[in-house]
Amino acid sequence: MHLKILEYPDKTLREKSVAVEKFDALLHNMLDAMYPLMIQTNGIGLAGIQVGITKRILLLNIPDEDGEQPKENLIEMINPVISNKKGETTYQEGCLSVPSFYEDINRFESISVNYQDRDGNTTFLEADGLLSIAIQHEHDHLEGILFIDKLSSSRRRKFEKEYKKMLKEKKTS
Ligand SMILES: [Zn+2]
Repeated sequence: MHLKILEYPDKTLREKSVAVEKFDALLHNMLDAMYPLMIQTNGIGLAGIQVGITKRILLLNIPDEDGEQPKENLIEMINPVISNKKGETTYQEGCLSVPSFYEDINRFESISVNYQDRDGNTTFLEADGLLSIAIQHEHDHLEGILFIDKLSSSRRRKFEKEYKKMLKEKKTS
């Protein structure tokens, strides 16, 4: 399976992902193809929709204290549901689908997540810190929401201008 990361303003990124019902070989192939792409592109999280798969699937791999992302730290979330949102935190976020841009975004400090693993087993996780932030960011992708949607209107305008300029430069270089 060859996958490519879709970049803003690709309209597919605005689609709402649908629940996974079959935990079959096709799902496993998708997850297995997404993982190396996330690592190669230095991502800590990747949602299916970012590679054009409109299913409620997320990968998360938060770097350890040495900055490594060993595969045993990989979390695969199928059909995640976030609850128990508490506190507030701000983090400078980026996104593989919005290359080269980083912005301070407000998120809940801690959350709980109910989800299924690749075999359909129901799982529960409590998260805080960067994992909590990454889950909220990736979960937004499932709803067609990008982190730049959370910017104030003046910062959003500035972003659109700079992004357009970057796309133009990319094309000509
Ligand atoms: Zn993203």
